[in-house]
Amino acid sequence: MTKQSPGSIQAVENKLKLGIIVTASILAVELAGGFLSNSLALLSDAGHLFTDVLALSLSLYGVRQATRPPSSHMTFGYHRVGVLIAIANAIGIFAIAGIVLHEAYSRLVQPMEVRGLLMLAVAVIGLGANVLVASWLRTEQRTNLNIRSAFWHLVGDALASIGVIIGALIILLTGWFWIDPAISMLISVIIIIAGVQIFRQGIRVLLEAAPPGIDAMKIIHTLKQMPGVRDVHDVHVWSISPELHTMSCHVLIDDLPTSQATDIRHRIEDVVRQQFQIEHTTVQMECQQCDASDIFCTWTFGAKGEEEKNSHQQ
Ligand SMILES: [Zn+2]
Ligand SMILES: [Zn+2]
Repeated sequence: MTKQSPGSIQAVENKLKLGIIVTASILAVELAGGFLSNSLALLSDAGHLFTDVLALSLSLYGVRQATRPPSSHMTFGYHRVGVLIAIANAIGIFAIAGIVLHEAYSRLVQPMEVRGLLMLAVAVIGLGANVLVASWLRTEQRTNLNIRSAFWHLVGDALASIGVIIGALIILLTGWFWIDPAISMLISVIIIIAGVQIFRQGIRVLLEAAPPGIDAMKIIHTLKQMPGVRDVHDVHVWSISPELHTMSCHVLIDDLPTSQATDIRHRIEDVVRQQFQIEHTTVQMECQQCDASDIFCTWTFGAKGEEEKNSHQQ
């Protein structure tokens, strides 16, 4: 359904793979450093990096699925497998944040000794890797939307690392160990926000919500302005996956030859693709107003059948 050149898909895949490898490496370093230095702040930042690895892996999965052909028994392809994984993992993220918050609370009540120097060293490594990846993506982020969001995410991660560095410095200078759980609480909040975003995005797809930023009324208004279009109704806009949007609608036109109707349909598909980033459109052309004349059709199961039965009896 999506048309993208194999070369550009490969380039995006490589960038994502690189991001996963670098982030997973920092995660491993922070996890080891967190246990060795007894720093909860480092461990919670490792938890945060886990959400990053997850988000990058899901993007990679999504990019790959877009190239996998659908089959006769899976006519939409496998895009929503990624959505299900995302929701399951968001629940896992909430669990991680909950464990960290619980541990942070008990450490605030009874502070534990933290090795400030090791904590500082690990956080500096994390920040360094972060800045490195961000600088790789800096040029692409101006043109590619996915890479831009990854770039700004990395900037946020760098701020979290700076928070851990400041915490380590304070511990080294003052011996205030409560700083460590306090910072991990802040990072937990960041993790929860990331989890909520992943969860919401997945649920929106499963609920067949209109994609964020796409207003169905605006599409209808735009189509109704087009030459040859007399009315637009029974409109549905939804997403197969967070990146892949779909629309179906009825379009009322004059009683034209099929070739002219096809021209109108092509123009509609182009407008919908270019102005609203909806790649897959199904248009039902009509020259008489049909039964489903509501803008968004009201589906009441059973009601249609009853109507038919009634009309047969008459
Ligand atoms: Zn992050
Ligand atoms: Zn209709």
